[in-house]
Amino acid sequence: MICDICLQAPHHPQCPNYPHRETGIFCDVCGEEISPGDEYIENDEGNYAHFDCFYTMRQLLKWLGYDIKEMKDFKYGPQLKTERM
Ligand SMILES: [Zn+2]
Ligand SMILES: [Zn+2]
Repeated sequence: MICDICLQAPHHPQCPNYPHRETGIFCDVCGEEISPGDEYIENDEGNYAHFDCFYTMRQLLKWLGYDIKEMKDFKYGPQLKTERM
Protein backbone atom coordinates (compact mmCIF):
# COMPACT_ATOMS: atom_id res chain seq x y z
CA MET A 1 0.00 0.00 0.00
CA ILE A 2 1.45 3.33 -1.10
CA CYS A 3 0.62 6.20 1.23
CA ASP A 4 -1.56 9.06 -0.18
CA ILE A 5 0.44 11.73 1.60
CA CYS A 6 4.09 10.80 1.23
CA LEU A 7 3.65 8.42 -1.74
CA GLN A 8 6.02 5.99 -0.10
CA ALA A 9 5.80 2.61 1.53
CA PRO A 10 6.86 2.50 4.26
CA HIS A 11 6.13 6.13 5.18
CA HIS A 12 8.68 8.87 4.89
CA PRO A 13 9.81 9.96 8.39
CA GLN A 14 8.26 13.43 7.83
CA CYS A 15 4.86 11.93 6.90
CA PRO A 16 2.06 12.46 9.47
CA ASN A 17 1.15 8.79 9.08
CA TYR A 18 4.65 7.67 9.98
CA PRO A 19 4.30 5.45 13.04
CA HIS A 20 5.42 7.49 16.00
CA ARG A 21 8.46 6.01 17.65
CA GLU A 22 9.58 7.35 20.97
CA THR A 23 13.27 7.98 20.76
CA GLY A 24 13.45 9.06 24.39
CA ILE A 25 16.07 11.61 23.36
CA PHE A 26 15.26 15.23 24.04
CA CYS A 27 16.79 18.37 22.68
CA ASP A 28 18.85 20.32 25.19
CA VAL A 29 17.87 23.62 23.55
CA CYS A 30 14.11 23.45 22.87
CA GLY A 31 13.16 20.51 25.10
CA GLU A 32 11.30 18.71 22.29
CA GLU A 33 11.93 15.09 21.45
CA ILE A 34 14.41 14.42 18.67
CA SER A 35 12.32 12.39 16.23
CA PRO A 36 13.50 9.85 13.67
CA GLY A 37 14.62 11.80 10.62
CA ASP A 38 15.66 14.91 12.59
CA GLU A 39 19.21 16.18 12.33
CA TYR A 40 20.89 16.41 15.71
CA ILE A 41 24.27 16.76 17.30
CA GLU A 42 25.78 15.42 20.50
CA ASN A 43 28.33 17.08 22.73
CA ASP A 44 31.05 15.66 24.99
CA GLU A 45 28.71 15.69 27.99
CA GLY A 46 26.33 13.32 26.20
CA ASN A 47 23.65 15.95 25.58
CA TYR A 48 21.66 15.97 22.37
CA ALA A 49 20.20 18.87 20.45
CA HIS A 50 18.49 19.49 17.13
CA PHE A 51 20.91 20.97 14.67
CA ASP A 52 18.17 23.41 13.62
CA CYS A 53 17.90 24.74 17.18
CA PHE A 54 21.20 26.57 16.87
CA TYR A 55 20.84 29.95 15.27
CA THR A 56 24.42 31.16 15.49
CA MET A 57 27.85 29.59 15.27
CA ARG A 58 28.66 31.15 18.66
CA GLN A 59 25.66 29.42 20.27
CA LEU A 60 26.62 26.11 18.70
CA LEU A 61 30.26 26.30 19.78
CA LYS A 62 29.33 27.34 23.34
CA TRP A 63 27.04 24.32 23.59
CA LEU A 64 29.79 22.06 22.29
CA GLY A 65 31.97 23.35 25.11
CA TYR A 66 34.32 25.58 23.19
CA ASP A 67 35.36 28.83 24.81
CA ILE A 68 35.41 31.81 22.55
CA LYS A 69 38.52 33.63 23.66
CA GLU A 70 39.80 37.08 23.05
CA MET A 71 43.37 37.21 21.77
CA LYS A 72 45.52 39.46 23.89
CA ASP A 73 48.32 41.40 22.33
CA PHE A 74 51.11 39.96 24.45
CA LYS A 75 53.89 40.59 21.97
CA TYR A 76 54.96 43.81 23.69
CA GLY A 77 53.45 42.91 27.04
CA PRO A 78 55.35 42.49 30.29
CA GLN A 79 55.00 38.65 30.35
CA LEU A 80 57.26 37.94 27.40
CA LYS A 81 59.87 40.46 28.49
CA THR A 82 60.30 38.87 31.91
CA GLU A 83 60.46 35.36 30.41
CA ARG A 84 63.35 36.35 28.17
CA MET A 85 65.44 37.81 31.01
ZN1 LIG B 1 2.97 8.34 4.45
ZN1 LIG C 1 15.41 21.38 19.55
